[in-house]
Amino acid sequence: MWNRSEQTICAISTPQGVGGLAVIRISGVEALSVCKRISKSLNKKKVIESHRAYFSEIFSLSENSSENAFVNKIDEAVITYFAKGKSFTGEETVEISCHGSKFIVQQILELLISCGCRMAERGEFTYRAFMNGRLDLVQAESVLALIESQNQASAIVALRQLEGHVSKQFAELISDLTWCLAHIEASIDFSEQGITVVDTGVLVKKLESIAEALKTLTHSYQSGKLIKDGIKVALIGEPNVGKSSLLNLLLQSDKAIVTPIAGTTRDAIEGDTLYDGVKYSISDTAGLRDTDDPVEIIGINKSKTEASAADVLCFILDCSQKDWSQSLRLAQEQKNLRKIFLLNKADITTEEHRAELLGRLGQNNAAIFTSALKPDSRADIFAAIKATVGSLEYLNEALISSARQYEQAAYSFEMISNCIHELKQNTGAEFVAMYLKESLLSLQKILGQVYDDQIMDRVFKEFCLGK
Ligand code: GDP
Repeated sequence: MWNRSEQTICAISTPQGVGGLAVIRISGVEALSVCKRISKSLNKKKVIESHRAYFSEIFSLSENSSENAFVNKIDEAVITYFAKGKSFTGEETVEISCHGSKFIVQQILELLISCGCRMAERGEFTYRAFMNGRLDLVQAESVLALIESQNQASAIVALRQLEGHVSKQFAELISDLTWCLAHIEASIDFSEQGITVVDTGVLVKKLESIAEALKTLTHSYQSGKLIKDGIKVALIGEPNVGKSSLLNLLLQSDKAIVTPIAGTTRDAIEGDTLYDGVKYSISDTAGLRDTDDPVEIIGINKSKTEASAADVLCFILDCSQKDWSQSLRLAQEQKNLRKIFLLNKADITTEEHRAELLGRLGQNNAAIFTSALKPDSRADIFAAIKATVGSLEYLNEALISSARQYEQAAYSFEMISNCIHELKQNTGAEFVAMYLKESLLSLQKILGQVYDDQIMDRVFKEFCLGK
């Protein structure tokens, strides 16, 4: 599928459907000559400048006459030309902004195909940009992340990647690792003559600093992923503790029904909200309690599934309730997940009672007092969630947010750790070189300096048409 093709490709780059405008993109050696064949005004022009937009009527072609070939007018459009080497793909590119009718777009695409273009595959424009050295694979992935970004934080993270901040860090590590490998290989070559090319201590120090940088990058994936996909928060608790009320407060809507009757929320209610530029997907689950009601049991089981998929579990306890044992038992079962306790209905407690409640909860649990009736609780809850997930700094950071990059970086780190171990054990330069090569290869795969069909598929299969 990912053969480098010289054929000129075309596709609609704006969403399919009706809109004010639609943009059709054409890239390849014949992009301009094809457009000249369907545009009367471009056809007449002797010089067409790069990065200039030209108003033009688009015509279908007559079948047999080469003279006066323009017959039926299809649309009035603006055509922008990007010269080879000055476009996103690196190839000669033309963008036709036509009226956003499905019919018009279809007609223009058919016209382009009849002139020798072919429909682009998903992600093929970005693929060509990669093949022409305009982007590396980290940047190509960031293009998709940018298209899919739905909030300020994820857009900033993707933009940083597109600007090359993450790529630069990987490139530096590749350069340092190449230095280490060259010295190790030279050591192997000169070992018989008893020449020491590099001191082991120097090499270990250098590798340790590479490992440290890789560790920081792999750790950044946790924040990067949460920022990219949003933080999934599940509100869990017994009926009537205030889950629906807190959901409404967090979402700033009346999505969940609030009643004093226990068991009203039988199915999970979800919603997304933004706080401090970060997206949170919050679900209010069916109240957890022992019941024989079959409908409620289905809801409770769904709550448990919901809980296992969440990034943060908020266990809600009612300050006015004497017995928290069911919730505490359930919270204890969720060992590996991030959790916080929201001690709700704090508006009806006294200071002494609060101290007693915290004592009841035990010291090792993160807990805050909340009230669904107090707007301030919204900020308190988001602050507690943020504290639980760790650093969500993104403004000045280069974060990785792709699973592919994370897996390769983690493997590279593991191989460097093996290297350091071998060097310290003095087991032989051959092993060290072997691990170093593996580590280097993983980093080169991240940037796409080394790639195969599997890597290409993984990066580009998620793309939409026209990008
Ligand atoms: P759920 O069953 O856990 O979803 O609980 P609801 O959100 O339906 O709330 C149950 C009852 O508690 C309703 O009458 C709410 O108005 C009330 N309630 C919820 N949160 C608070 C709170 O923070 N303070 C007080 N005083 N009442 C609350």
